[in-house]
Amino acid sequence: MIRFIILFAFIVLVAVGAAWLADHPGSMALSWAGWRVETSIPVLVLFLLLVMGLSAVVYRLWLWLLGSPGRIGSVLRGNRKERGYKALTEGMAAIAAGEANVASRAAEQAEKLLDGTPMAQLLRAQAAQLAGDDATAEKYFRAMLDTKETQLVALRGLLIQAGRLGDHKQALALAARARNLRPGAGWAVRSLFDLQVSAEDWTAASQTVAGGQRAGVYSKENAAHKLAVLYTADALAKEAAGQRHEALTHAADAIKQDPSHVPAAVLEARLLAASGKERKAVRHLTSAWQQTRHPAVAEAFLALKPGESPAARLARFEGLHKSTPGDGESLLVLARLALEADDLMQANEAAQRAIEKAETIDQRHCRLMVSLAERSSDGAEKAREWLMRLADAPAPAHWQCTECGETPPDWHPRCPRCHTFDSLQWQAVRSSADSLLLVDTAAAEKADTTPEEVEVETVAR
Ligand SMILES: [Zn+2]
Repeated sequence: MIRFIILFAFIVLVAVGAAWLADHPGSMALSWAGWRVETSIPVLVLFLLLVMGLSAVVYRLWLWLLGSPGRIGSVLRGNRKERGYKALTEGMAAIAAGEANVASRAAEQAEKLLDGTPMAQLLRAQAAQLAGDDATAEKYFRAMLDTKETQLVALRGLLIQAGRLGDHKQALALAARARNLRPGAGWAVRSLFDLQVSAEDWTAASQTVAGGQRAGVYSKENAAHKLAVLYTADALAKEAAGQRHEALTHAADAIKQDPSHVPAAVLEARLLAASGKERKAVRHLTSAWQQTRHPAVAEAFLALKPGESPAARLARFEGLHKSTPGDGESLLVLARLALEADDLMQANEAAQRAIEKAETIDQRHCRLMVSLAERSSDGAEKAREWLMRLADAPAPAHWQCTECGETPPDWHPRCPRCHTFDSLQWQAVRSSADSLLLVDTAAAEKADTTPEEVEVETVAR
């Protein structure tokens, strides 16, 4: 409001002045050193006003520069910072492009221009890492540990360094520190988990998975499956150490996490039977069999009474078969047991139905049919037919490593050959072409056998 009044008064003054000048016209002449200037009064007034305005601007600029000497420095510093950030950007781009020399030069420049800010330190560390200069990289990463903002990235850098140097203990400590600092950092949780698993510290790994699930790193299903595998691994280790009670607890925990995890069901039944709790073992195996129809469950069921007569085994299995009477896998076991018990009629009938129900007629069906034909008086021709089919029949499903193709006879928490965690899947063995591919890409370096030998082994199993 006051500004408006002042502006209004100013306009009024200018208007009055202009009117007064118009009413009193006149001229002015100036002569000096041979120069003569003649002008009207209004032009002179305008000229004077312009000179005054210009002087005011120059005076203000002078005051601004004089009044704050730091300003000139700050402009220069601004340029320095700008050049520093430019070097930083160049360095980051060089790292992404894998140009170690360019990155190192830019990193040095950025550090100098930005007075060792954490970003410049990070660039120096990464450039050194790219150039393979581990000592310099470590020096800068360690310096970054002191700043809260760069602590996590420094831990990650140091973890990579430790992994590169094969320092497992150091890597484990760094991964744990990073996970504790940021429980939701996926890379930290996964690194810690991988390190614990490779050290076969199943208890610590299961705690990491449980924490990772709470922090949202693992989905509920993924965590449940991982925990089932880890508890089973723990149970197997405890069983090997003669700690049967602990082993049983871990196996039960594994089944709770994933009731379809066959290795846990088989192990629990074995432990229950060894503790004299055979009825409970039968109950749990029946439940597992109904869920999975997995041959290993049937074998675990049959193994509950070693030294049993074939007829008694057949009679006992019929109890389990009743729970899944139309299942092809169940019929195949029944036919085999009936054959062993010399009940050829039941064996033939069950074998025929097993073949009708089978999704794939594999080597087990062919072998059974050959044995049955050989036992019958007029079965020579039929035996030959099934023998020919056996030559082309696929191998039955096995535990097979999805990483290297290894087919161990039993389940392990880590592949016995390539040591990958949870890589053994129950699946139809891959074709020979697939096996060759797998061996070529993943396992040839580690394997003692040639690709051809591995292929033969795969088919033979
Ligand atoms: Zn493997």
